[in-house]
Amino acid sequence: MGLQIDIAAIVANWKALAARAPGARAAAVVKADGYGLGASRIVPALYQAGARDFFVALAKEGRAIRPHLPDDATINVLSGHMPGADLDGLVPVLNSAEQFFRDRAIRPGARFAIQLDSGMNRLGMEAAEWAAIRAEVLDAGPDFIMSHLACADEPDHPANATQLAAFRAMTDGCNVPLSLAATGGILLGPEYHFDLVRPGVGLYGGMPFADAQQVVRLSLPVIQTRPVAPDEFVGYGATWTATAPRRIATVAAGYADGILRALSSSGASLYADGIACPIVGRVSMDLVTADVTELRTVPDHLDLICVEQPIDMLADHAGTIGYEILTALRQRYERVYL
Ligand SMILES: *Cc1c(COP(=O)(O)O)cnc(C)c1O
Repeated sequence: MGLQIDIAAIVANWKALAARAPGARAAAVVKADGYGLGASRIVPALYQAGARDFFVALAKEGRAIRPHLPDDATINVLSGHMPGADLDGLVPVLNSAEQFFRDRAIRPGARFAIQLDSGMNRLGMEAAEWAAIRAEVLDAGPDFIMSHLACADEPDHPANATQLAAFRAMTDGCNVPLSLAATGGILLGPEYHFDLVRPGVGLYGGMPFADAQQVVRLSLPVIQTRPVAPDEFVGYGATWTATAPRRIATVAAGYADGILRALSSSGASLYADGIACPIVGRVSMDLVTADVTELRTVPDHLDLICVEQPIDMLADHAGTIGYEILTALRQRYERVYL
């Protein structure tokens, strides 16, 4: 019980996404500790399935997984070469001319990659900055050149084609492996795949990979149940009041565990064998209350994330995205890896 993480499902999702981009190598994005699910448990399984390219956000994250991967696995660091970074055994994805020159001065001859900005205006070299140092960068032999799509989860968004054209224009004639697609970009089709694809959220069962296998189940222990009479309220702020006799269960997890407070009386439920028990009243730091009146017997545990309520449905109730639901799940849960 607790937080169940199905490693075999992550591997199956990686294989399924790799199969959608048959001409490209499939990397695995494991930043933020594998989207909160435990990168040190995930990367050996993906390596065994054939993954050799991994992406993290920070050098610190790369160092944390380096001991869990053989030497022929590459760990790319998306934040690039920050001042003072220890990049031993890692490959920085250099985002600016400043990072490039810093990196060459400190790590001459060491492996690196390049990120270009194709329109998102978040990370990567702008066209003019790139044009000015392109010859010198290519001479130094980058592993690959990448960019990132801002709207890949919306296939009809015009920014996709605009960014694709910008990336093509900036990399024309480079003769270096190219990478543009994350999960959403893989699903946009072959013109977005280039040489290396970088799926993240789809590995963990999140949208936009609608065919993903479910990876996470979150089962919360019931501490106690009580009858609540009409006109009695439940929880902080007395925001929910019973209009009829109800039975309320209190489970042991709350917003300190990443159960977003926005889920208070949001339409989200705890589930008992597929039966929905609506969350009523406010989510507290360590507790959630749900209306279990419809259950004949209340089980020891109620599920917040399950087949009936996957991460993206929960995200809709909270007004956020599956990525935030996953990365908010913190360390306090008992974790079970399947
Ligand atoms: C997070 C990230 C990815 C993975 O994105 P998903 O949408 O989770 O598949 C790929 N590339 C970059 C640059 C990222 O920041």
